[in-house]
Amino acid sequence: MALEDRLRSDVAELQPDMVALRHQLHQRPEIGLDLPQTQRAVLDALTGLPLEISTGSSSSSVTAVLRGTGAAEPGESRTAPVVLLRGDMDALPVQEATGVEFTSTIDGAMHACGHDLHVAMLVGAARLLSAHRDALAGDVVFMFQPGEEGWNGAGHMIAEGVLDAAGPRVQRAYGMHVIAGKLARSQFTTRPGTLMAASDGLMVTVRGSGGHGSAPHRAKDPVSVAAEIITALQTMVTRQFDVFDPVVITVGSFHAGTRRNIIPEEAVFEATVRSFSPAARERIATASVRLCESIAAAHGLEADARYNAEYPVTVNDAAQTAFATRVVGDVFGEDRFTPMPDPEAGAEDFSRVLEEVPGCYLFLGACPGDDHDSAADNHSPYAVFDDAVMADGCLLHASLAIRALADLTAG
Ligand SMILES: [Zn+2]
Ligand SMILES: [Zn+2]
Repeated sequence: MALEDRLRSDVAELQPDMVALRHQLHQRPEIGLDLPQTQRAVLDALTGLPLEISTGSSSSSVTAVLRGTGAAEPGESRTAPVVLLRGDMDALPVQEATGVEFTSTIDGAMHACGHDLHVAMLVGAARLLSAHRDALAGDVVFMFQPGEEGWNGAGHMIAEGVLDAAGPRVQRAYGMHVIAGKLARSQFTTRPGTLMAASDGLMVTVRGSGGHGSAPHRAKDPVSVAAEIITALQTMVTRQFDVFDPVVITVGSFHAGTRRNIIPEEAVFEATVRSFSPAARERIATASVRLCESIAAAHGLEADARYNAEYPVTVNDAAQTAFATRVVGDVFGEDRFTPMPDPEAGAEDFSRVLEEVPGCYLFLGACPGDDHDSAADNHSPYAVFDDAVMADGCLLHASLAIRALADLTAG
């Protein structure tokens, strides 16, 4: 049997285990950088494979290295090339409302972004490639990453050496994300260049002076000033930024006061800020803070505005995107690839890996039904993901690694 067919039939055999692992993780979602049960499940699932495994010290990460045996001719001592495959592992503070039978058993936590599928697909790929080491002309680093959802898990793993885990540095990196809505089931999509936004945080405290709600002139009302700032942030976006180099600001939390007749001492709000170029990112970091401070000052109040640079723009290498698109076409057929005209305003800390190593990040449609246009998106308490797509995700991981190593060896 040709390698392609053997991989395909092996994936079909792995699929029930991937489903079981995914359901197990889904029932016990963990949030952030510390995912002890998830880490345990990954380590258990990798037991017995010919992998060099290490775990993180600043997070519950798992790094596994597989040494390919198809590289050099016997006696040849050329350094083997290294590629990296990544799966993120963390859940979200969302109360699940899907009603699936393997629903979350943890109050207020849910795998609403499909990272449970990512873990299962990457474990599947590790098992698949372990059974086909002779097809690997080099080494593979499996990056099981906690803390993608705003915790900089990728940054932690890079700092702890994931890119050098095999010895020689990783030369190519690939990752994949399942999508609950928008994209048809089993379709792959990506684009060269800017794929996803930079994501930063704007944290603002407007300091006033409390008093009686009936006598605002004897107080300094931080609520009305904060409200004015929030509206002005949107005006700033439309008046100060190029529509063809967009930015998005969304104030997602606002807290002030205790009762309607009490003017509070302060109002606190936080915004997420998305941008698609380093230039726009730099400008909004300054302009947003200036606007908050200046509007507060105009009313005789003070604002502490802090701009936190978080995740950089996710940029796909053009050649690696062409390569990954080709692999999708070869393995699954060209009709399985949907071109992606515009970047996503979501963000990814795989961006940090792609800042270091050329590679490609792809999306995989995982909507269980045909109505992906109206299906709930990732992060929704109603987001559902079809187990069936994991087989293809696993096969694409493995195929990318095999072919990338072959390319690196050839040239
Ligand atoms: Zn997410
Ligand atoms: Zn995600």
